[in-house]
Amino acid sequence: MTTYQRDAARPSPPLREPISSGTDLTRRAASATDWWRIGSVSVIWLTSLFVVALWVSGGAVQDLARFDADTLDTLGRVTGLVAANLLLYQVLLMARVPLFERGFGRDGITRMHRLVGFWSFWLMLAHIVLITFGYAAESNVNVFVQAWQFVWDYPGMLLAAVGTGLLVMVVVTSMRRARRKLRYESWHLLHLYAYLGVGFSLPHMLWTGADFLSSPLATVYWWTLWALAALSLIVFRILVPIIRSLRHRVRVIAVEPDGGHGVLVRMEGRTLHRLGAESGQFFVWRFLDGAGWMRGHPFSLASAPAGNHFSISARIIGDGTSRLTTLRPGTRVVFEGPYGRMTGRERTGRKLLMIGAGAGVTPLVSLLESEGYAPGDATLIARDSDPSEGLRSAAIERLVKDRGLRFARLDGHRSHGHSSWLPQSHAEWTGDDLIRYLAPDLELYDAYVCGPVQWMDNLTHDLRAAGLPASRIHTERFTV
Ligand SMILES: Cc1cc2nc3c(=O)[nH]c(=O)nc-3n(C[C@H](O)[C@H](O)[C@H](O)COP(=O)(O)OP(=O)(O)OC[C@H]3O[C@@H](n4cnc5c(N)ncnc54)[C@H](O)[C@@H]3O)c2cc1C
Repeated sequence: MTTYQRDAARPSPPLREPISSGTDLTRRAASATDWWRIGSVSVIWLTSLFVVALWVSGGAVQDLARFDADTLDTLGRVTGLVAANLLLYQVLLMARVPLFERGFGRDGITRMHRLVGFWSFWLMLAHIVLITFGYAAESNVNVFVQAWQFVWDYPGMLLAAVGTGLLVMVVVTSMRRARRKLRYESWHLLHLYAYLGVGFSLPHMLWTGADFLSSPLATVYWWTLWALAALSLIVFRILVPIIRSLRHRVRVIAVEPDGGHGVLVRMEGRTLHRLGAESGQFFVWRFLDGAGWMRGHPFSLASAPAGNHFSISARIIGDGTSRLTTLRPGTRVVFEGPYGRMTGRERTGRKLLMIGAGAGVTPLVSLLESEGYAPGDATLIARDSDPSEGLRSAAIERLVKDRGLRFARLDGHRSHGHSSWLPQSHAEWTGDDLIRYLAPDLELYDAYVCGPVQWMDNLTHDLRAAGLPASRIHTERFTV
């Protein structure tokens, strides 16, 4: 690794105004985020209702009441329509569309991706079964014969069958047990087949689906939504990152060890302020250092963005993070982002309680560098199995010395009690008691939490139990 001593040359990040206890920031911060969320949720609901309205306008309610083959057909149609709508939202949610990124944040999108994926998959299977049984009853043939006829005789159905097979494979490999056995890269590659699965399933809807062809309005709706989904993928996942990377010309300027098992990568670019990146956010980074550069890895900003400098800090755990240690100054960087909502904008209280485990401490340090607070009003708790592995120690020391940050470590193996986010050395504490001990005036605090998922869930539970409302707990999960 090259070492680097240019901190003095790096401009200080601008500080966000400290929050005075009298200021009612709750309303201001909540409204900005809420508008994005209301916008995203409204779009999803309105389009889903529109799809159901199309189905009803095709005489669905009368068919339902008949209790014969038509009932199966009409149920098959509505399950297919809603599954198609949700599949399109799966694509849109993953397309990094700013509306959804700001409305739900990355954690929210990941949760929705799972939920929408679950429902679209089961509705799609229900659609296949109901339509096959309905048509078989109507034509008085065996369901297997009907299924065979569908695949071979109806336009677009062979493709749809292949698409369904691909979607089944994606769902099966995403089940917890299967996923644990797969390397992340293999799982991710298999997951990309979902796009092909959706693509293959589309033509049969357009060529044979009565509800798609029933009215010009229906046809326009579906074509518009599909065009929008495809366009969003191309624009936000391909064009925007390429254009931004070309425009800002980010390069590695230094690579340093960070703690016993980490690496800090410093980068420089042009007019980086125009990206509007904030402390606490992350980018997906690709370093053009040879074969394998296509594999992007998400890393949070490890220090507050200042001038034309960015830095990331990573715990070395596998190929992607090891590779960071061999980067050379001058290496070009392609990036996607900034993403994430764990920023100072979410803050509504005067004081800050930051709790990070492992690499989770990095975005918290960047937030502490850019947020305003009085000495003693911000507390950082860092946790590692071994304290020598702690990342960003030098930056934390500076914050303690220059800004009056209160800092403590909770290292060691995790305890097995009720509050497993605590180490064994604190097993006699309950998590909520410890939180109230650290922050007796908890009503003045916002908590920022980052680390492994289970650890975060456990800690978030204790923060709620200690009396902190969910709106004051801000999180970013380091896993997908
Ligand atoms: C929003 C976000 C921000 C993150 N910020 C940081 C950070 O600031 N510092 C840090 O050390 N780590 C961070 N991580 C985790 C980091 O991305 C992974 O540790 C890294 O990608 C591991 O890659 P690897 O090839 O070294 O390890 P591998 O052994 O290949 O992977 C280990 C685990 O890392 C995760 N992972 C691997 N590749 C990816 C990928 N391309 N996208 C998402 N997850 C992946 C998977 O859960 C995998 O099981 C962040 C993750 C997310 C989702």
